[in-house]
Amino acid sequence: MRSFDLLLQFYYKPLTLTLSPAWTGRGNYSNSFEPRRFRSYTTRVKAAILHGKLNIRIEDIAPPPLKPGEVRIRIEAALTCGTDLKVFKRGYHAKMIVPPAVFGHELAGTISEIRSQKPEVRSQNWENGERVVVANSAPCGDCFFCKNNRENLCDDLQFLNGAYAEEIVVPARFVQKNLLRLKPETPFRDAALTEPLACVVQGVEDSKLRAGQNVLILGAGPIGLMFVALAKNLGCHVAVAGRGEKRLQMAQRLGAIEIINVGDGENLVEKIRTAVFGVRGHVRALKSGDMSPQSKSALGFDVVIEAVGKPEAWEAAVQLVRKGGTVNFFGGCPSGASVSLDTQLIHYSNLTLLASFHHTPRAIRRALEFIEAGVVRAADFVDGECPLTRLPELFKSMAEGNRAIKTLIKVHE
Ligand SMILES: [Zn+2]
Ligand SMILES: [Zn+2]
Repeated sequence: MRSFDLLLQFYYKPLTLTLSPAWTGRGNYSNSFEPRRFRSYTTRVKAAILHGKLNIRIEDIAPPPLKPGEVRIRIEAALTCGTDLKVFKRGYHAKMIVPPAVFGHELAGTISEIRSQKPEVRSQNWENGERVVVANSAPCGDCFFCKNNRENLCDDLQFLNGAYAEEIVVPARFVQKNLLRLKPETPFRDAALTEPLACVVQGVEDSKLRAGQNVLILGAGPIGLMFVALAKNLGCHVAVAGRGEKRLQMAQRLGAIEIINVGDGENLVEKIRTAVFGVRGHVRALKSGDMSPQSKSALGFDVVIEAVGKPEAWEAAVQLVRKGGTVNFFGGCPSGASVSLDTQLIHYSNLTLLASFHHTPRAIRRALEFIEAGVVRAADFVDGECPLTRLPELFKSMAEGNRAIKTLIKVHE
């Protein structure tokens, strides 16, 4: 088996990141900053600019003026994300980032400027000073997929980047579809988890998780850990297989009742089966108290969620689910990757295999509800802070495998 470095990875969904045109100009970001017609700026703002592979620089840029329907947010919390790490290592992302471009996509903050669609109408009643979170994408609302409640698959999904900055311009479509008010007591750093959590909400709903199920989560990165929190909240019995002491401890704190350290990742399926089902020849079930399954075929998880994004883990997931169970291939693999699956197993075990991608406006709202209900808290996922000016070093250390879960970027120093 190939070396199993996958479970230590900052796994993350392959969200395609792209930039607000006003901020990027597709490789020409400085050209987009036109004369200041609607706001008199005397100062420039700091922003992290991705210039290419392993190359981020912090620069002072002139903020662009607002177009009709846009709002400006003073960013109060921005979080690192595995997708950004992938982009940093690769220097671009297939669907979008053409450096140089502003970087980062998980943020919350305060509205600092509004420009209405029509001068006489206030823009959707947004007010300066309102505390908000904005998603990193906005669907069109008109295409086949949007009309069938599959906005995550929108043919014209627009993306927003620029969280690692003092402020960001939110395009009109985002203001209309995916800008949400926060409760006064919701901390910004918690609210900034809305976007990744929305992906997980989508995954939980697609997998039809319900109370009492035995659920295995492959991967203990931020996304795997969010799955633990939501599955536990639903009343599932959760096992987590991953690497990194700190992450596995967090999985336990979040309520996982079985933690499997996969070590070097060799013989993954065997390791997990032994840890969960076989201890000295006895069979142990996940549910409280030991119990013997009626037959060997009863072994296996009701649901397996692959939150790693490597073909080996996809293949392992299918071998660990029980007859009639469900596998969610949540982790996007590198482009061009393929997997080999046992057709007999899939057919005769009547497996349900699915893959969740991204999120819908409904999932974004549900995610914020979970955050505001305290089900998902930054204290469990954000394990470090870093000033904006040190972002380049931070990403270098992430690329070297620092195994941090998520880092809060302090954009105002
Ligand atoms: Zn993210
Ligand atoms: Zn659409």
